[in-house]
Amino acid sequence: MPYTELNLELSEEHELLKEEVHKFAMEVLRPASLELDKLSPSEVVKKGSLYWECMARMYQNNYHTVLISDAYGGLGLDPLGVHIFWEELAYGSVGFAVSLGCSCFSSFYATMLCEDYLIDNFVTPFVNCKDASIMSCWGITEPQHGSDNLMTGTEFFRDPAHAHQVKAKRKGGKWVINGQKSAWISNGPVASDVALFVNMDASCGFSGGGICLLNLDQPGVSRGKPLDKLGQRELPQGELFFDGAECSEEAMIVDPESYESMTELTLGHANATMGAYFTGLAQAAFDLSMDYSRERVQGGKLLSEHQLVQRKLFDMFVKVETARAFSRSAMVFNMNTTPPKVQYSIGAKVFCTEAAFQVASDSVQLFGGYGVSKDFPIEKLFRDARAGLIEDGSNDSLSLAAGLMILREA
Ligand SMILES: Cc1cc2nc3c(=O)[nH]c(=O)nc-3n(C[C@H](O)[C@H](O)[C@H](O)COP(=O)(O)OP(=O)(O)OC[C@H]3O[C@@H](n4cnc5c(N)ncnc54)[C@H](O)[C@@H]3O)c2cc1C
Repeated sequence: MPYTELNLELSEEHELLKEEVHKFAMEVLRPASLELDKLSPSEVVKKGSLYWECMARMYQNNYHTVLISDAYGGLGLDPLGVHIFWEELAYGSVGFAVSLGCSCFSSFYATMLCEDYLIDNFVTPFVNCKDASIMSCWGITEPQHGSDNLMTGTEFFRDPAHAHQVKAKRKGGKWVINGQKSAWISNGPVASDVALFVNMDASCGFSGGGICLLNLDQPGVSRGKPLDKLGQRELPQGELFFDGAECSEEAMIVDPESYESMTELTLGHANATMGAYFTGLAQAAFDLSMDYSRERVQGGKLLSEHQLVQRKLFDMFVKVETARAFSRSAMVFNMNTTPPKVQYSIGAKVFCTEAAFQVASDSVQLFGGYGVSKDFPIEKLFRDARAGLIEDGSNDSLSLAAGLMILREA
């Protein structure tokens, strides 16, 4: 790895993990993501595509079990190991890292709640899957409710005038689901199940929500066209439609009583993971800049010999190192703390995505004309980083939510 590891207590296992995942990400995911970037979204998700080939390879390496303890057959990584894993995977391709991260959604809840029904249906088959045919996604955003979902702890969240469009109604010992989730659902076009955020009691507004784990290969579920977008084009995204889809009582895992705290806990985990992904992307953009500045000659000397370039590289370096230090601390703290202090995870997400975007943008500038050409991967990294400022909550809305959390605690 080109950077100096500042954590002197990293174990040998952490070092090996870092090396192994980095190698896989650079040999398999980076070239595949550059190829997939040129395809239409429908070609990306087609059976037998390079997307499926790479996902299957990650499942064969057991990477999909990154959040699962060894007691259930998972990788059993500690929180720092989880961060290192995501950093290195996203170094090669943030889109593949997000796709793999979302594939873990249902099993993550199932292992947290630890009930036999959930383990048998959402953990064991997932752990044993080696071809990526069992894959989850996170369905929270709706066409009319994006940032609204994040406003926990506010009067708005409890106002009966606003609630999720996707509704769950109890009928004959089951839950019947109707409504639509937005085109942003990562893995929406390819997932076999969803951790679905629904409304159960509209009189309580958003706080009358619930979460169910729902099989997507059933009558009553349909999908939109895979989304065409700016960055992370190797990550399939698309709408989910529910018209009388069903889930069992046991799979309705959260009701209005715990919905608000579970939404915050989910954000706490998802945002910490975003911090790790974008630390990896920032490092990748920085490394490309270092290499290029040592090859390109202008004004009779290498770019790296110009003082202005040295200053630019230093600024990038500080952003990458600060991102890594903050993001690792937030993830390690929050994976060891119940309930998590979500403002730290949000802080890591906001800081690291902005650092990654600034580093990628400075890197494009350093490459000059080549920065905006397809000849180098930096233009893709720049587009991938741009999506991160909105992904998993827009940075503005997340900052408002975290500001309230900080005030609530003070
Ligand atoms: C790459 C990518 C992956 C994603 N993956 C998933 C996924 O897997 N699952 C899923 O459910 N969703 C996913 N999303 C959706 C994402 O979480 C939403 O896009 C995000 O929450 C913003 O919602 P919105 O797009 O509806 O924007 P809006 O909520 O409409 O916001 C538009 C703008 O208004 C601002 N704004 C909104 N409300 C306020 C307010 N109260 N005060 C001040 N400013 C405000 C926002 O900051 C933003 O700048 C993904 C998005 C992207 C880009």
